[in-house]
Amino acid sequence: MKIKFLGTAAYEGVPSLFCTCRVCQKAMKEGGRELRSRSQALINDELLLDFPPDTVWHFQRFCLDWTKIGDCLITHDHSDHLYPEDALMAVEAYSNQHRPLHFYAAQSGYEKLMACVPFAETAGAGISLVEPGRRFTAGEGGKYSVLPLRANHEDATSPVIYSISCEGKRLLYAHDTGVFYEDTWKGLKEEGRYDLISMDCTGCLEKAGPDYHMCLRDIRGVLERMRSEKLADEKTTVVLNHFSHNGGLTYEEMCREAEKEGMIVSYDGLELVV
Ligand SMILES: [Zn+2]
Ligand SMILES: [Zn+2]
Ligand SMILES: [Zn+2]
Repeated sequence: MKIKFLGTAAYEGVPSLFCTCRVCQKAMKEGGRELRSRSQALINDELLLDFPPDTVWHFQRFCLDWTKIGDCLITHDHSDHLYPEDALMAVEAYSNQHRPLHFYAAQSGYEKLMACVPFAETAGAGISLVEPGRRFTAGEGGKYSVLPLRANHEDATSPVIYSISCEGKRLLYAHDTGVFYEDTWKGLKEEGRYDLISMDCTGCLEKAGPDYHMCLRDIRGVLERMRSEKLADEKTTVVLNHFSHNGGLTYEEMCREAEKEGMIVSYDGLELVV
């Protein structure tokens, strides 16, 4: 299974609009991996994770092939993960003939998309309501088995993390979430071992509490439990992702910390195969 990280920042992006902090200034000066757009990822060139306002930019920068991309899983409806106004471009008047894009979103994201997009006029694009704990299939011939689980994030945004399995490989996309709830641990245990885990690292090394988002300290604890419950082992690829400039570390500085523990720091354009 291949995953490409298209955007790797939290809501503000790095550099953040209006900001003059040290991290943003370095990103502005150096560009490259220091520069982060809002979170989105793509699996096997065909399964999109989230639909942020930077989707247009990701399409232009990475030449996304819309003849391959058929499905989009929404984690929750904060605007850095779901910008429904741009989903309206699926209407033929904006984008002419194209492959339909099917959205999967939990309650509040579902409602926002339905309010914004006239799905009857979108050349076959559609939407499915997902619920934490209820498995579904996505992709050509239902090749992806997807289990949404409740995320520890603002409840009003119907937040979920996604466990995605395909052709004997399993991936966990855990953004935005704090340390997992017990019912989420139960769901993960039923899934089994992960080949790749992408973890929320909004706070970089340290943050105030275990809710809504994580930092490296929280991730260490989560990984320890995942290893003890045989959900991860030494061969599991661990990616730190979804960074805020307010975490206070640059890409380069974050890499120094993560490398000590065999973890990978995401950047826009990072591609991994497991
Ligand atoms: Zn976010
Ligand atoms: Zn800043
Ligand atoms: Zn969020």
